[in-house]
Amino acid sequence: MMDTEIIPFPADDGLPLNLVHVTGPGPAPRGPVLLVHGAGVRAELFRPPLPRTLVDALLEAGWDVWMLNWRASIDLEPVPWTLDEAAVFDHPAAVRTVLAATGASDLVAFVHCQGSTSFTMAAVAGLLPQVRTIVSNSVSLHVRLPPASQLKITRLLPLLGGYTAALSPRWGYKSDGYFSRTVRAAVRLTHRECDNTVCRLVSFTYGAGRPALWSHAQLDTATHDWLAGEFGGAPLSFFRQMARCARTGYLVPTGTLEQLPRNLVDHPPATEARFVLLSGTENRCFLPASQQLSHRFLDHHRPGYDALHLLPGYGHLDVIFGKNAWKDTYPLILKELAS
Ligand SMILES: [Zn+2]
Repeated sequence: MMDTEIIPFPADDGLPLNLVHVTGPGPAPRGPVLLVHGAGVRAELFRPPLPRTLVDALLEAGWDVWMLNWRASIDLEPVPWTLDEAAVFDHPAAVRTVLAATGASDLVAFVHCQGSTSFTMAAVAGLLPQVRTIVSNSVSLHVRLPPASQLKITRLLPLLGGYTAALSPRWGYKSDGYFSRTVRAAVRLTHRECDNTVCRLVSFTYGAGRPALWSHAQLDTATHDWLAGEFGGAPLSFFRQMARCARTGYLVPTGTLEQLPRNLVDHPPATEARFVLLSGTENRCFLPASQQLSHRFLDHHRPGYDALHLLPGYGHLDVIFGKNAWKDTYPLILKELAS
């Protein structure tokens, strides 16, 4: 049995966010763990219809589980957002809210994709002093894309501005004007890998590959069906910032928020948090080189303190909802969160 409670709280610019607090039947002596989703998805990403999810594994291991819906969540009102806003306004407020609710003095975090880039941005800028361990999946401080994605985000993206404010895999089943229908038709012609139009649109929107964010062999049928409801839009404000990051090779703040330094990698990280960087060897959303470069950066400043793990046979999101993740990836995540 588990209990779920939604706890609303404001980001530090006033935007309404929430935390999904999940408790199991047993005690949680390890204290709070914060789970942070990626772009265009939501907190429930961590609870796919698997016999054993990452949330189940964390509860069993004695963690108090808090899943964040930050401003990129499809469970919230859609707003244009940047990584800077998440780093400065969302993550520090979320950490403070969990600590206030639990009475804990610090916490650990498992952060995925753009939840990880924005959380890492906040941590290295010194905005998350109460976080002791950050396990990051897929990408953190450095950005290396497959050539096809690099081309899409740097060349195609600038052409879209007049047509749409966002890109959404949800267009697979729900039209939003002429542009969305054009994209869907194009994806149906060019992505023939399965019958799930959302799955194919996800691969068109993010990364390179068919599919791009997982391999079909790693998913069971229930999860492949379920994911059709789990992907909404991500705004061009985000894609534009990621295009700059991809051209530069590491995260670049927009320069609009003074809480963030202009350059995140020309000085040591302003955090004591230990980073554990994960990437699937088959990751076609962010190449494993992304995490390897971030590990090199951290290891240069703090030799032997942080860790890097490449997960054989895994991609981007199957690390979290692959049918064998319970035995392939969760034990490593649990071990690193506890160490
Ligand atoms: Zn598919």
